[in-house]
Amino acid sequence: MTAFFVHNPSGPETKHSVVGHGVFLPDCLSGVLDLAFDTVSPVHPGAGAFALKGRDVLRAAARRAGVPILPGTSIKGAVRTVFELITASCVLSDRKARCDLKKTGLCAACGLFGALGYAGRLGFSDGVPCDPPGVSVSTERVGVPYPPGGARRGSAEGQSSIVTAYKFYGRPDADREDVILVEAYRGSFRGKARFRNVTSAELGLVLFALGLGDGEFAFPLVLGGGRPAGLGTLRCRVMQGMLLEHAKGHIGRRRPLRPAEELDWMRSGSSSLDDAKRDALLDLARGLREREASP
Ligand SMILES: [Zn+2]
Repeated sequence: MTAFFVHNPSGPETKHSVVGHGVFLPDCLSGVLDLAFDTVSPVHPGAGAFALKGRDVLRAAARRAGVPILPGTSIKGAVRTVFELITASCVLSDRKARCDLKKTGLCAACGLFGALGYAGRLGFSDGVPCDPPGVSVSTERVGVPYPPGGARRGSAEGQSSIVTAYKFYGRPDADREDVILVEAYRGSFRGKARFRNVTSAELGLVLFALGLGDGEFAFPLVLGGGRPAGLGTLRCRVMQGMLLEHAKGHIGRRRPLRPAEELDWMRSGSSSLDDAKRDALLDLARGLREREASP
């Protein structure tokens, strides 16, 4: 498999105090974004179960009440990985510096996506099939081993307790002999990102982490099992949104997302990135676009 590493660009992270869930902070937004996820290659969000297809046994993909879904946890994991890379996150540092809700406060990623004992301020619903065009189910052959989940963290130099880089899968391998069969989905899913007390800069970085940057910053999301075989490439779009602007100390006015409002968020997000983090995002985006372009 053509794996590539994106090195940790961050210095020591800043810990922040935790934002409680019962407050509405001024200059922050709460709300919902409706997102569409279009598969570029078939996606296999593993269900941890097996299905039968004739005489073959295959790894089943996630369903809810029989309907194919893109689990919100998978989407969140893929987005968090990129967010960690472009913020000063505790994950890319010595284990001793990992966030602790009570002792240290939380880094940018833990404070937004959550940590042990803290639910976070951003969540993703399960993606459900768009109607139309809906989602079709296929059977794909992928090589063994079969890494599930999102991008692997690791050290490019070998085993180490200090995570220095994220490993992503680029162009797929040529066919391997040992194969397993997996159920995979093609088509369009629709899901929601729900957030509370987030700044426009944080929202901007989330949109970058969804691959929604322009030009060189654009990339497909990669999630699910069978990624070394090229499965799990998706493009995300923002369809619409509903926001609560906070008035002093309480929920304020509810209003729809304004045209091009996302661009303002992304400008704020971008201005919070130093050169090293911007370069890491560009490296990641380049690698994932190459993956998307390969057959
Ligand atoms: Zn953290």
